[in-house]
Amino acid sequence: MNGGHGKRCSLGPETDMEGEVEPPAEEIERLRRCINDLISVLALPAIWIGGEPSQIVRTFLDALLGMLRLDLIFVRLKDPIGAAPIEMIRSAQSLKQPPQPDELGKLLEHWLGADPQEWPALIRNPTGDGDISIVPVQLGLQGEIGVVLAGSRRANFPGQTEKLILGVAANQAVIGLQGARLLIEQKRVAEELDQRVAQRTAELAKINEELKREVTERKLAQERLSQEERELRRSEAFLAEGQRLSLTGSFSWRVATDEITWSEQLYRIFEFDQGEPVTLSLIRARIHPEDVVILDDMIERSRRAASGFEFEHRLLMPDHSVKHLHLVAHAIRGKDGCHEYIGAVQDVTRRRLSDEELATARSELARVARVTSFGALTASIAHEVNQPLAGISTNAGTCLRMLAADPPNVEGARETARRTMRDCKRASDVIGRLRALFSKKETTTEAVDLNTATQEVVALSLSELQRGRVAMKMELANDLPLVTGDRIQLQQVILNLLLNAVDAMGGVDERRRELVIRTERDGSDHVRLAVQDAGVGIDPQNVRKLFEAFYTTKSNGMGIGLSVSRSIIESHQGRIWAAPNDGPGATVSFSIPREPERMADVQGPGVIG
Ligand code: ADP
Repeated sequence: MNGGHGKRCSLGPETDMEGEVEPPAEEIERLRRCINDLISVLALPAIWIGGEPSQIVRTFLDALLGMLRLDLIFVRLKDPIGAAPIEMIRSAQSLKQPPQPDELGKLLEHWLGADPQEWPALIRNPTGDGDISIVPVQLGLQGEIGVVLAGSRRANFPGQTEKLILGVAANQAVIGLQGARLLIEQKRVAEELDQRVAQRTAELAKINEELKREVTERKLAQERLSQEERELRRSEAFLAEGQRLSLTGSFSWRVATDEITWSEQLYRIFEFDQGEPVTLSLIRARIHPEDVVILDDMIERSRRAASGFEFEHRLLMPDHSVKHLHLVAHAIRGKDGCHEYIGAVQDVTRRRLSDEELATARSELARVARVTSFGALTASIAHEVNQPLAGISTNAGTCLRMLAADPPNVEGARETARRTMRDCKRASDVIGRLRALFSKKETTTEAVDLNTATQEVVALSLSELQRGRVAMKMELANDLPLVTGDRIQLQQVILNLLLNAVDAMGGVDERRRELVIRTERDGSDHVRLAVQDAGVGIDPQNVRKLFEAFYTTKSNGMGIGLSVSRSIIESHQGRIWAAPNDGPGATVSFSIPREPERMADVQGPGVIG
């Protein structure tokens, strides 16, 4: 019993150690205090609102220490939401050496958590200040919040009112602590929620940004696309207009499937209905009957090898008019790996007609020029030769008369015979001068590659070959030695042979007009060039005649070409000959020595035009 302090409140009349009943005035006073204490205890949670657990515990301990005149009060809170347990102690000043919270915690370790009923009622002050009566009160129904330990050195501690106040205070502390916990939890949840909201807001903002960017990009792409579409439409319109103006159509042809695509202009050129499905047989039906062979040949070759082609052919239109077309195509490999031709077709009718007119005018001019110059030449030759011939004839007559005289005038005859010889010399001089005139052209000698020379001639003659609808093939030897000679003259020979071959096939319609130019070695020291055709051929009896000057079987021929060619080849120390083929046509060939057998004097006649 702690003297100096009166008894605190109790519900029933409280007894002292001797069991005497307190007088009613004191009892009333005690009850009044007890009620005051209870009111104070009940008011505690209002103070604690919004406070933290440690604050609540501190005020709770301070209030009880004073209210119950305790020597010490200790509290241990279990795990206040994730934190370490809180241990706190308050002791009265009367306690000289109050224990530290951890000392008391260690001392009570054995019991803490165990059933408080089993706690001892008395413990020894750990700091050695006598015995202390203790009362453990659980916080929470199962002590889940913690435990409070009130201690006093008073022997009658705890009285009933103290137990009551302790119990009520503990309940209030539980309410306060639970409120604090709830507040902390609410704060945590609110913070978490805030965080989540902030995070989600940031995510949404990012998504929003991305969406905005995507929308802008899509808009830009769409604008680009429509710009490209506009440009495409414009260039398509340009192309169509260009095709219309240049009378050029374009096409594609997939070889494997025979799928054909045409431009509008090509429909116009062929005079087919726009959009009508185009097939090879439809095209074939419009080709000029004489050119169908060329088309078939081209198709067959294009199917075999994916190379380009270029040729001219004619169309026979429903009104029987003829159109000339120039076709160029090159092969490409389509997406599926199959080969396809892309090409352009130009209507060259107007050009062809004017070309033909030009060619006719030219050959007419050439013929007139030839006739004129030959006429003039003949007149000149006649005049030049006639004079000495007249002299010869007169002198011979005089000579005869002088010899017939009686006696014969031998001296006079001798003189006239001398004059005859002089005139003969004059005539031979005229012939000599003429020959000199014909051979006036300077000749040059150089190393000549006959293959290149041939290719150049063929390149120059392409339009002649096309006009003659001739299929040309070159079989040029790879290892052909050079020859020495006049390149221009040799090319004149090749050109003569080529044009003769084209002429020879002019009337051939029942077979392919095929022309082969072949070069090869001829023995170890000669080179041979042959031009083989599928034309009318040569009568074996006439093979020599062909090379005679003025021999011709053509209505507009001069019969000069082969004779000039022979002169050129012979001046190159070579020989030229013609032979009928085994099949149709003929082959004209020449053979000349290879380098370094240089000719001593390459003096060919000029070409008579
Ligand atoms: P031209 O060509 O002016 O007639 P050429 O001297 O070149 O003069 O030819 C003489 C003749 O030889 C020709 O008219 C022709 O009868 C014949 N001839 C030349 N080449 C051939 C050939 N490849 N096939 C058949 N005959 C030919």
